[in-house]
Amino acid sequence: MHVNFKRYGLYLVRWQLSTPILAVVLYYLAPIGALAATVVANLIGGLIFFWVDRFIFTSQALAAQWEVREKIRCVDCGKVARGYRLVRAGNYDRSEDAQPEFRCEECSQKKSDELKKRGIRL
Ligand SMILES: [Zn+2]
Repeated sequence: MHVNFKRYGLYLVRWQLSTPILAVVLYYLAPIGALAATVVANLIGGLIFFWVDRFIFTSQALAAQWEVREKIRCVDCGKVARGYRLVRAGNYDRSEDAQPEFRCEECSQKKSDELKKRGIRL
């Protein structure tokens, strides 16, 4: 299974953020009982973290960014085809590349495997 560690890390931080909400609500609503107070705390948490979780799991800002261009000449095999290049991913950033290298789908796949072996998280 592929794990995006940036998303995973944020998700773990987000779980910690639910802790103070639980603590504060349990403190102030102690008179209504621990069970009822926990229900209220989880309701508040749900109202907030639905949006936070949605961002964590769907944001393109946290995903690897690819640029796709039609009719490029692949830098590896010379074939003219639809080209792909990785712009940004985890610890990899080529967004300021003055001479971006595009690859055909096949060579792009090979290059991705190579990058993964070098520890680039895609
Ligand atoms: Zn190629």
